[in-house]
Amino acid sequence: MANSLKVAVIGAGVAGLTAARELQKESLQVVVFEQSHRLGGTWAYDPRVESDPLGIDPNRDVVHGSLYKSLRTNLPRQLMSFTDFEFAQKLYGDPQINPGHEEVLKLLEDFASCFKLTELVRFNTVVTRVEVVDSVNTTFVVESETNGVSLEEVFDAVVVCNGHNTQPRLATDIPGIETWSKKQMHSHNYRDPEPFRDQIVVVIGSGPSAIDISNEIATVAKEVHMLSRSPRFKVGKSEKFDNVWQHSKINCINKDGMVIFQDGFSVEADIICHCTGYKLHFPFLKTNGIVSIQDKRIGPLYKHVFPPQLAPKLSFIGIPEESFTFAIIECQSRWIAQVLSQKVLLPSENEMLFDVEQYYQEMNEKGVPEHRTHYIGFQTSYIDWMFDQTGMVLEKRLKDMYEYFNHCLMSAGVDGYMDAFSSRYGI
Ligand code: FAD
Repeated sequence: MANSLKVAVIGAGVAGLTAARELQKESLQVVVFEQSHRLGGTWAYDPRVESDPLGIDPNRDVVHGSLYKSLRTNLPRQLMSFTDFEFAQKLYGDPQINPGHEEVLKLLEDFASCFKLTELVRFNTVVTRVEVVDSVNTTFVVESETNGVSLEEVFDAVVVCNGHNTQPRLATDIPGIETWSKKQMHSHNYRDPEPFRDQIVVVIGSGPSAIDISNEIATVAKEVHMLSRSPRFKVGKSEKFDNVWQHSKINCINKDGMVIFQDGFSVEADIICHCTGYKLHFPFLKTNGIVSIQDKRIGPLYKHVFPPQLAPKLSFIGIPEESFTFAIIECQSRWIAQVLSQKVLLPSENEMLFDVEQYYQEMNEKGVPEHRTHYIGFQTSYIDWMFDQTGMVLEKRLKDMYEYFNHCLMSAGVDGYMDAFSSRYGI
C-alpha cells in the first residue's frame, strides 16, 4: 500500500481526531466527515433532547449527545489524556480531579488546534453510505450529504469513529413494562433534574449515569427507586439520601402504575428512567454481511478493530467499553495508521478469524454474555499489546497510574475510587 492512500474518517470526536492525527503522521491523505457543525462529539454538550424520550421512533430527529448539564467525568483527568498531550498539564482553571464536560471539550479543541486537525474536518457533512466498490483491491465508496447536497467519493480505506452512546438500549425484560402507560425515558434524554420535581422515579441501571442521575434527581424528587442487579449495591434505603431506595429486581409492573419489587416493596411510580446503556449503530455501513451487528456485539473484529475479511482497509475505533477510552483510542489509532502505511503487518485473514473465534469461545466458557463482547475493563493489557505492535511502550509513570486506578476501583468501589485515587494522584 502506498503512503498516498486516501482515508475517510467518520466522526470528529475523540476517536476521529486521534485517528486523523495518527494517519496524518503517516503521511496518508485524510478527510474527516463530521455531521455536526463542531468537533468534540459526545463532549460538545447539546441541551436538546429527542421528541421520543425512549429513542424508539425511527423518524425522530436524533440528537447525538448524551451528556447531562452537570456532568463531571467518572475518570480522573490524568486518565483522559493522550500520551504526549496530558490533561493534567492544561490549566483550565478547575482544580477538581474529575473535570466538567466543558473542560474536556476545551482539551479536545486544543488538541485539534495544536495538531492542525480542524482543517481536515468537513463539518455539517453526514456519511450516509460506506460500501465496498472494488472487492479485489478493496476500495470504498463513501456517500455523504452536506446541506442537502449529496456526494459520492472513492476512498482506499475507512476508519469508523461514529461514537457509541446515541442509540438507547432499553430494559425490555421486565414483565408488564410494555403495557405501562405512564412516562418512560432513557438517560440519553436526561439533561437536568427539574422535570422530576415531586415525582416518584424508578431508575433502572447501576452504571455511572444511573448513579449520577439518581443522586441529582434525589435533590428534587419525592422518591427515587434505583434498580440494580449488581451485587455491588446494598438493597434497602440509601445511607446518603432519605428519599432513595435500592432494589435488586422488579417482579412486575402493573398497568395502574404500581411497580412491584422483588424485595416486597411496591410504589406507584410516575416515571421510569432507563440508564441501561447504548446499542452499537452503523446505519451507513453496507458490507454484505461481512460485518454483522447484534445488539452490543460487532463482528468479527480482530482485537475489536479490524474485520479480518476487509482488513486493514476498514477499521473501527473506540468499540471497547468500560475502559480507559482515551488511551485505547490512541493506541488503536496508532496501530491502524501504521498498518495502513505498511510499517506494521497484520496476521493473515485466517489467523485473525481464528483469534476472534478463540475469543468468543473463551467468553462462552467463562459464561460471559454476548452483550459484553467489547468490555475490556480497566487493565492495561490491551493497551500494552496494541502499543507494542507499533514499537511503543506505555511510560512507567503512566502505567503505574492506570494500574493504581484499577486497584482503587477494585478496593474502594464505586463510591470511593475517586477519593482513593486522589489521595495519591490529587492535583
Ligand atoms: P463521539 O464522541 O460520540 O464522537 C462521534 C462523532 O461522530 C460525533 O461528533 C458525531 O457527530 C459523528 N458522527 C456520527 N455519525 C456520523 C455520520 N454518519 N457522519 C458524520 N459524522 C458522524 N469517557 C471517559 O473517558 N470518561 C468519562 O468520564 C466519560 N463519561 C461519559 C459520560 C456519558 C454520559 C457518556 C455518554 C459517555 C462518557 N464517556 C466517558 C465515553 C465517551 O463517549 C468517550 O470519552 C468519547 O467521547 C468517545 O469518543 P468517540 O469519538 O468514539 O465518539
